[in-house]
Amino acid sequence: MLYMKDIDLNNKKVFIRLDFNVPIKGNEITSSERIDRSIPTIQLAIKKNAKIILASHLGRPKEGTYNKKYSLFPVYQYLKKKLPKINIIFCKDYFDNPIQIKSKQIIVLENVRFNIGETKNNITLSKKYADLCDIFIMDAFATAHRIESSTYGICDFVKTACMGPLLHSEIKILKKILYQPLRPMVTIVGGAKVSTKFQLLHSLLKITDTMLVGGGIANTFLSTRYSIGKSLHEKNFQKQAKKMLETKKISLPIDSRVKITDTVNSNPKIKSVSMIESNEEILDIGDQTIQKYKKIIKKAKTILWNGPLGVFELPNFRTGTAKIASYIANSSSFSIAGGGDTIAVIDLLNLKEKISYISTGGGAFLEFIEKQTLPIINRLNQF
Ligand code: AMP
Repeated sequence: MLYMKDIDLNNKKVFIRLDFNVPIKGNEITSSERIDRSIPTIQLAIKKNAKIILASHLGRPKEGTYNKKYSLFPVYQYLKKKLPKINIIFCKDYFDNPIQIKSKQIIVLENVRFNIGETKNNITLSKKYADLCDIFIMDAFATAHRIESSTYGICDFVKTACMGPLLHSEIKILKKILYQPLRPMVTIVGGAKVSTKFQLLHSLLKITDTMLVGGGIANTFLSTRYSIGKSLHEKNFQKQAKKMLETKKISLPIDSRVKITDTVNSNPKIKSVSMIESNEEILDIGDQTIQKYKKIIKKAKTILWNGPLGVFELPNFRTGTAKIASYIANSSSFSIAGGGDTIAVIDLLNLKEKISYISTGGGAFLEFIEKQTLPIINRLNQF
């Protein structure tokens, strides 16, 4: 495996695939986290005197059709503010004319997903990207689980491809947690459905000492023991859930905040999980569960967290997620969090600085934990 820090980039045209897939409202970037985390990579390329081409996707536009809503122009403007001394150019039609670029200059390409074939890893498009550069640097961790032309296919046509520092550090930290966690290791898994996190739960149960569950995930486990009324759960996963409970590593909620479904009253009622009635819906964990989980979190040396413990979007059902998030943030353990909703919660509660490591990846974070690798890692290993 080649790493960006080790290779000579002097006067070389480098195509750096980053993940600038940030939320934008109007022209306003509402969370610049992913761009900010890419800045050290860009600065390293400048220091190494490279001719820098930056590529990323943004959202899911229709390929072949320009749509201003998905333009990377606001990202380009943000980069100009962040790097005021650097000559940065925005380029929309980069395949039409050869790119003219000097060392230490940056060209930001328009959204790669406007190009036909990008998400299908089209060979012709992959070659076109490769023709733009001398060296390919993959540093888009949050897109590293996707086999697309600008993240993967380009490797078939470049002489040199290497791993960038952000991708490297994300993987190093995940590996450390997966292979050498300080114990006890506590994992906290919430979110909607067991089916979408089945492989994740399975992989985590092999390494964790205790797993705390919340959200719809907990409901499916609870449904193997109790009637849980109208709560979201998956009957066809009950058998697998029972098997997982046999590991004795899963700690279940003992009470919950429920909503009564046939009234307009949305005030939460705290109920024991064994007393849920047919018209009730579990939307958050209860106070006894919060206390039970708090004690376990306090003793942890490593914490890995993915998924809200309730419907945090509704302020009435945010208590469990908010409390657990604050216990993680205030613990002296090494804490790592990942996943779109999890990061949104951390942002909402202003706890970003207090979590030891926040992964920039959602899908990639989960896939790496599930499989302990990503396709692009194996591909880069061939250089
Ligand atoms: P995920 O993408 O699987 O992490 O799921 C996140 C979503 O799960 C959020 O939109 C939450 O509102 C939702 N969620 C969490 N707890 C529950 C629950 N008890 N019932 C229904 N949805 C839930």
